[in-house]
Amino acid sequence: MMRRAVFLDRDGTINEEVNYLQAIDDLRIINGACSGIKRLNDAGFLVIVVTNQSGVARGLFDEEFLDVLHREMLNRLDRCGARIDAFYYCPHHPSEGQGIYRTDCRCRKPSTGLIERACADFSIDVNRSFVVGDAQRDMRLAWNVGAGSVLVLTGYGTDSLRGLPISERQRIDYVAADLGEAARWICAQ
Ligand SMILES: [Mg+2]
Ligand SMILES: [Zn+2]
Repeated sequence: MMRRAVFLDRDGTINEEVNYLQAIDDLRIINGACSGIKRLNDAGFLVIVVTNQSGVARGLFDEEFLDVLHREMLNRLDRCGARIDAFYYCPHHPSEGQGIYRTDCRCRKPSTGLIERACADFSIDVNRSFVVGDAQRDMRLAWNVGAGSVLVLTGYGTDSLRGLPISERQRIDYVAADLGEAARWICAQ
């Protein structure tokens, strides 16, 4: 039995965008995110975070920090009964940073590597799944994998919407004020 998933962007979608989150103290969950994730859990969706974290390539923080931060996110969400099933991140950048992290990888959104990895780890029907995010690259990721596309107006969402050509704006399946509203719409599909 293939499951449906909601692939969530992290910064600007679940937690407030602070331009390279690199301290636990700066982690603030956006209003509506907790209840939205819980709603998706209760509806039987896998909830999977897919996030570009080029701060690793840029030397701003390391993968160990991301593990600690993601555990803290899980703890905070748990307090309101919400659960993220898995985190997938891209630590790379094509032109910034050093060593193994400086690479033209297949996982930096809008490339599809993170979702492909998730689909290999879980049995996911990607065509009945959704991508929710605040950036144009999140919408392009949705289109690249054949999932539904939901833009949230938190984080960079308002600017992202404004910057899109009309033809692409019309391709977005739903524009939501925040993750809570996005989850309500997804659960009504
Ligand atoms: Mg974002
Ligand atoms: Zn990558």
